[in-house]
Amino acid sequence: MKIINTPEEMQRQALEWRKSGKKIGLVPTMGFLHDGHMSLIDRARPECDILIVSIFVNPTQFGPNEDLDKYPRDFKRDCEQCEAHKVDCIFAPAPEVMYAPDHSTWVVEEKLSRPLCGKSRPIHFRGVATVVTKLFNLTQAEVAVFGRKDAQQALIIKRMVRDLNMPIEIIVAPLVRDTDLVAMSSRNRYLSESERKSAQVISRSLLSAEDELRRNGIKDIEELILKIKTAITSAGGRIDYVEALDGYNLEPLTGKSSSVLLAVAAYFGTTRLIDNVLVDF
Ligand code: AMP
Repeated sequence: MKIINTPEEMQRQALEWRKSGKKIGLVPTMGFLHDGHMSLIDRARPECDILIVSIFVNPTQFGPNEDLDKYPRDFKRDCEQCEAHKVDCIFAPAPEVMYAPDHSTWVVEEKLSRPLCGKSRPIHFRGVATVVTKLFNLTQAEVAVFGRKDAQQALIIKRMVRDLNMPIEIIVAPLVRDTDLVAMSSRNRYLSESERKSAQVISRSLLSAEDELRRNGIKDIEELILKIKTAITSAGGRIDYVEALDGYNLEPLTGKSSSVLLAVAAYFGTTRLIDNVLVDF
């Protein structure tokens, strides 16, 4: 397995692979890999000849008071996991080589980025869209896999690829949960044992709402949202949002919506967790 640390070397190598007819696949991550990430890697593996995993804690998607400095890292363990899952190349650049000091070009998606996480993290998706564009250019990938854990992010990336005619296929892989049903996330590492236990309320209340949605449709959606909010607050969580939006375009639900994204962001202690369920009718 090759480890590449500079954008120049990544692009040179990728162009060489492309020239020899190889199809390149990419799984972008911020590292501290868990089984959610590994499911993306396994999904990508049969889709390409050369599988690249990028490990980059992207500073431009973190707001001023967020967790950039304490974001968990374990590069050695990440490498071992990638090797075991037949990854061909890890691209792990330092922030200084990814962004020139006078970097001033951004990719901004202006519609899907507004609701949900966009409200409390106003520059987040600009950072995501920009770094993903850079990663696509550097790796020359023809296919990339993203997780539905970050459902809004996946919709934005698909929209960006469509709107800017990027020659890449985007695959969205299912959300992977731990045995206690908590959505796997590198940020779960921040939770104390008791916070972790309390945080189970997010997935449990979402999954029971999913059940009701499948049975009864969206007619009781406001009641379901209220139930989730009450459950999270009672368990000691602080809600950022609990919202149900159209699963295709993140517009408010209408009688015609054939897909519902029910999404939560909530704090347990100082850790912000996100989770969602997607119901298609
Ligand atoms: P991150 O390292 O958190 O930026 O995530 C990198 C990629 O892994 C993103 O496409 C995420 O949506 C995906 N991912 C993270 N956690 C999960 C999970 N529990 N299930 C599925 N995909 C995930």
